[in-house]
Formats: sequence, C-alpha cells, structure tokens
Amino acid sequence: MKIARVALDVPLSQLFDYRTESDGDSLVGQRVLVPFGKRHAVGVVVELARSSELPDARLKRISRVLDDARPFSAEDLKLLRFAGDYYHYPLGQVVMNALPQRLRRAAPPPARAVAYQITQAGLQADAKAISARALLQRRILLALQAERVLTSDALREIAPSAHSAVKALIERGWVQRGVAAPQPTPAEAPDSVPRQTAPYALTGSQARAVEEILAAVDNFHAFLLLGVTGSGKTEVYLRAAETVLSRGRQVLLLVPEIALTPQLQAMLQARFPEVCLVTLHSGLNETERLQNWLAAQSGEARLVLGTRLAVFAPLPRLGLVIVDEEHDPSFKQTEGFCYSARDLAVVRASQRGIPIVLGSATPALETYQNASTGRYRLLELPERINERPPRIQCVTIDPARTHRGLAPQMLAAIEERLRRREQTLVFINRRGYAPVLMCHSCGWLSGCHRCSAQLVLHLPARELHCHHCGHRAAVPPACPTCGNPALSPIGQGTQRVEDALVRHFPEAKVLRVDRDSTRGKGVWSGMRERIEAREVDILVGTQILAKGHDFAHLALVCILNADGMLYSADFRASERLYALLTQVAGRAGRAESQGEVLIQTEFPDHPLYAALRDQDVHRFLHQLLAQRGVGGFPPFVHQALLRAEAPQLETALEYLEDAKRAARGIEQDVELFDAVPAAMVRLAGRARAQLLVQSASRPALHVFLRQWTARLSAPRSSSARWALDVDPLEL
Ligand code: ADP
Ligand code: ZN
Ligand code: ZN
Repeated sequence: MKIARVALDVPLSQLFDYRTESDGDSLVGQRVLVPFGKRHAVGVVVELARSSELPDARLKRISRVLDDARPFSAEDLKLLRFAGDYYHYPLGQVVMNALPQRLRRAAPPPARAVAYQITQAGLQADAKAISARALLQRRILLALQAERVLTSDALREIAPSAHSAVKALIERGWVQRGVAAPQPTPAEAPDSVPRQTAPYALTGSQARAVEEILAAVDNFHAFLLLGVTGSGKTEVYLRAAETVLSRGRQVLLLVPEIALTPQLQAMLQARFPEVCLVTLHSGLNETERLQNWLAAQSGEARLVLGTRLAVFAPLPRLGLVIVDEEHDPSFKQTEGFCYSARDLAVVRASQRGIPIVLGSATPALETYQNASTGRYRLLELPERINERPPRIQCVTIDPARTHRGLAPQMLAAIEERLRRREQTLVFINRRGYAPVLMCHSCGWLSGCHRCSAQLVLHLPARELHCHHCGHRAAVPPACPTCGNPALSPIGQGTQRVEDALVRHFPEAKVLRVDRDSTRGKGVWSGMRERIEAREVDILVGTQILAKGHDFAHLALVCILNADGMLYSADFRASERLYALLTQVAGRAGRAESQGEVLIQTEFPDHPLYAALRDQDVHRFLHQLLAQRGVGGFPPFVHQALLRAEAPQLETALEYLEDAKRAARGIEQDVELFDAVPAAMVRLAGRARAQLLVQSASRPALHVFLRQWTARLSAPRSSSARWALDVDPLEL
C-alpha cells in the first residue's frame, strides 16, 4: 500500500495521510481532491510514504488527481518546506498559499490564454518572401509586425484557419507562442517610453559587477550590489539577465512595488522584446494571476517581475534571482505567514545553485553584515552615471521664524528654483492636512476610539480619518469635552504644506502627490506626464515620490519633519530613516544644474544627518553595526516575536504569560522577555501584546521555537489569537 502525505489549507502543522494506488514520484507536487471531515478539500501531495500512523480502517482514499501537470516540482516543494519550518507556520497553509486562488478550488483551471508574439527575426522578415500560395501566412506576419502580439482570439478573427498557418511562421523562427500577458491598459501605460532600449556601454564598475555575477552563473553566490541612486544598478540587472535568458533560463526579479514603477516593466519589455514577461503582484485579478502563474510554472514566461508573493512562483528553469531595493520592508509579510521574500529568495537561489543579486543604495543592516563577513560578495557602484551627486544640507529651524511651518531658507531656495524654471519636491511623510485636531482650552485631542492613534484632519471634506483602521468621522462642531468651538489643527500634512506653498507662491503650479490624490486608475501616470512636461513647478508628496522615479527637471528636494522619525522606540528607526531620506534625496539633480537637498531640522548635528550630508553609507552602517553589537541587537542576535491580540489587553497579556510558562524546560540558550503591550496597543478595536524571544544562535532559537510552537498549537479556550513573527522587522 502507498500512502500520499497531503498538505491541506488548515492551521495544523501536519500533513494528512491518504491511500493511493498510483506509484512513483509522479504524484508528488500534484493537486488532489481528498475527503476531509464531512467535505472534500483540495490539497497538494508533498511526499509518499510506505506506512501511516493511522490504522488502516481510518485511512481514506484520494478522490481525484486534479491536473495533468504538477503545479509544484520537488524543488519548489523544498522551498515551501523550508519556509514552513523556518517561519514555524503550518506547511499545509504555506503550500496552499503559494497557489493562485483559482487553484485552491477543485474546479479545473481555465484554458491557457495563448498569444502569438513576433520575434526579432520576424520583425525584420520581408512578408513578400512568403510564397504567394501562403497568403494567410503573409497576412498574419503583417498583422504581427504591426501589433507585436496577437491573442488566440485575435488570430481567429484574421481567418478561422489562421492557427495552422501560424505554425509555419513559428517554424521559421518569426513568431513565438507565449502566454497572453496582461498588457498595461492605456491609462497606466508608461508615460515615457524608456529613453534608451539598446544596451549602454557599461561603466567600469558596472562591467566589473556584471562580470562577477556572470562568472558565478552556474553556482550559488549571493551578491550585494551597493550602488548610490543613479549609479545604474538596473543596467547591471539587465546585462546579467540577458546572459541568463540567452541560455534559455528564467529570471526572477523581485521589487517592492510594481504599481509605482511601471517604467521598469516597460524597460524590460523593450530590452527583451522576444522574451515572454509576466508580472505577479496583488494588483492582478484572479484570472490574470492564474495565467501569469501558469506561464511561470510551465517555463514559458522567462522573465517574472513580481512583489514578495512571487518568491514562491514555480520556476522550472530558474537561473538568476534579483531583488531590487532589497532593504525595503515590504518584502516582509507582517501578518499571518510572516515570511521575508528577500531571505527566502536567497534560500531559493542556494537550493538551486544559482546566483542572486540584492541591489540597494542603502542595504539592510543584516545584508550589509553578510557582505562584511564575506558570506555575500560586495559589488559597488560608487558613482552616479550622468550627474554629480546632489549637495545635501541641513536647515536649522527656529520655530518662531517659520512661515506656516516652512523655514525662510527653504522658501528662498524654492524661489530661486522657480526663477530658473526648475522643479522642487517638498517631501513630507504624512498625508492629510494635520495629524491631529486639538482643543486648546481643555487639551482634548482627536483620537480614534478603535486604535491608539490620532485621527488625521482631512480637508476640504473636513473629516477626521484614522490611517490605521480606516475609521472616518466629520469634524465635530465643538470640543466634545468642553464645548469650545475653536479646535486647532496641530502639525503638518501634505495638504497643509500644499496650502502654505500655494499662498506663498501664488504664481507657481503646485501638485500634491499622495495616496489620496493619486487614487484611481491612471491618475498617477497622468500626473507623471504633467511633471515631465514641466506643467508643475512644485511637487508636494509622500513616499510615493521617493520610489524609483526619475524626474528629469527636478533640481531641489526639501525634506520636512524628518525629526519626527528620528527619535523612535524602534531600534530600526534610524536605519529606515536613512534609507528613506537617501531615496528622497536621490530624486534631486537629474536636471542640468547641481542638485540640492535641504533637510529642515532642529538637530543638524545628529550623526544620521551628518552621514547623510557626507553621503557616506559605509560610515553610517558601520556606526549602526557598532551600536547594535554593543546593545545586543540584530544582526548580532536572532529574534522572534510572539504576538497576541484579544478584545481586552489583559487577555492578550495573560495568553502570553501562559505561553511563557509553556516555555519552561525548553528555553535553552534563548532569552525570553516579559509579555508587554505592543507599541500600538489598540488597533481596530483589538488589544495587542507581544513577547520577544532571542538568541545569539539561530539554530538554538529554532530548536526552541519548534518545541514551543508545538505546545502553543494545543487547543485553548482563550479568546486570544496569536501569531509568530520570526526575524520581525517591527517590534
Ligand atoms: P539606480 O537604479 O542605480 O538608481 P538607474 O539604473 O536608474 O540607477 O540608472 C540611472 C540612469 O543612468 C538611468 O537613466 C540609466 O538609463 C542611465 N544609465 C545606466 N547605465 C548607463 C551607462 N552605462 N551609460 C549611460 N547611462 C547609463
Ligand atoms: Zn475642550
Ligand atoms: Zn483607528
């Protein structure tokens, strides 16, 4: 008798045994339908066994094998198993989570949407060379030369028999069969078609980086590509990808965010017109996601551009992994299955024996440490390609002498750029008008009744919004506690800064770019067009403006309220702030004149600002490493955080105290802290608490977590919910 061990989408850290007749490994990785309790469930066979701990009588049979092709190869399963083990998350849920929604149900997947693509040779081919008897082939070639891609349906419209005619074109190497990748809709189409699609002559440091990566192409090697903004990291990725693609292998490119950077997708498509490129991210609908996933899984899609979830995409011919902006916190999932896509990408590359490139101007300290100890190889691009680095300076604020929150030096600098018809970006990392509304007679503050957070004032609707739980309310006509009708907005958000700039520079065109103003399909790309066309003089915006966008005429960047992020309880705050400010500062100076960055601060001598001014990331990261070493923080210790939430804080804390007691006897070489309320105690009406565990030894931590989570999984009566976050980024 054969036993198939099946992963099911249930929160239990076990596989489920079923009888099967089919033999051999062909069942491993297969989707199956199995009886589970009173219903049927879809699962994935993870392994085969000869015997089961279940008595024969209780062993049920697999009802049905669901697909012809196996969704997961043995190698894909190896990564998923690692992820389940490392993050101590139920394997069944890890595996089922890695499938697109549609494949988690029993229904057969819809037919693949096939598309036909012109190749480079096909583009250059002369349609007249096709014999007159094959008129249909001619018509198809001409149509494809014009359209580049035709779906199966579009082909049928040319003629019912077009499908057989296209085969001849495929044989001649003029046409490729691929998957219908979702085309960017016209509104979201990249504004500026990439300025250059042909490869550049590489700079010396780019050439060295590419050479080192390619020398390792048949082995696992992790590279940290540390390049200042504008140093041409993308070109290094493209060159390395080109070689790997030319060998018929697949390339996985992970990015923090796709919606904000359509330029990258356009650039990839333009550089590799013959390669089937698909994207994988949460902005796709179920059908698109499934189609793209299947294209990756079949090996047809050779370039996969995705956000963190793409790290699990099955890629049978994977040859290179690239993680752009590897320091970005969005690679870490913070709820449920708390995995780091960057870290799993490294594991994946090592399991496959292929290189991985982690690119950043401000690497995560963990990554930097790995490069310092030689585990990763450091590749550096120390200089900007076209431009001089921007000049970064601090502007000391005297609160008594600001104009609506803007220092006079800032205003003078903006005025100077206006005169020269150059653009300015005013960066403030808070949307809305003001972060809180206050009553000066009794001290009342607009707080959210569901979260430990302030409600943000939004104009012109005169509403108070909670940025954490989404709660909205109208501004009260008077103070709810003392009845004072004069409530004052405190502090600044993007709307207020916009307002101040419009008043101060009535003749300038000011554009606000934040999550509120860019809502809706196509809005942001419309704005980018206006910015490029110089229809905007001053941009006011949040992080959206910091991420990966080149604005050719932007010469000055003004940073407001950085101090607010300087002193935070989180030991990673300064690392994050440095990365953010570097990214924002990098937007300056792609214009003709010398770029300039002004940081408005009360603490111009703070070491973080000093390092930023000197643009010395090595010095900054060394200082941080030294501090972390002395303080006993990561990367010198390894952490895991047990989070609990419940309607009442006491319940959450009690649960964690129980959990701490459950650790007795197994807590060797690990340090368990006390259960404490989370930094944000209430969120959406639930109270949150946490318990930190750490160890200088990663293996010791994981031995402990394995035993501990087994005890935690036992059924409880408590109304608390818990989740374990291994290598947490936020405490
Ligand atoms: P990064 O990602 O490191 O911030 P980019 O990849 O955006 O930098 O490159 C900055 C600019 O330099 C881009 O406009 C890019 O097209 C251009 N560039 C890159 N490599 C070269 C090169 N070898 N020669 C000329 N221009 C280049
Ligand atoms: Zn009051
Ligand atoms: Zn709230």
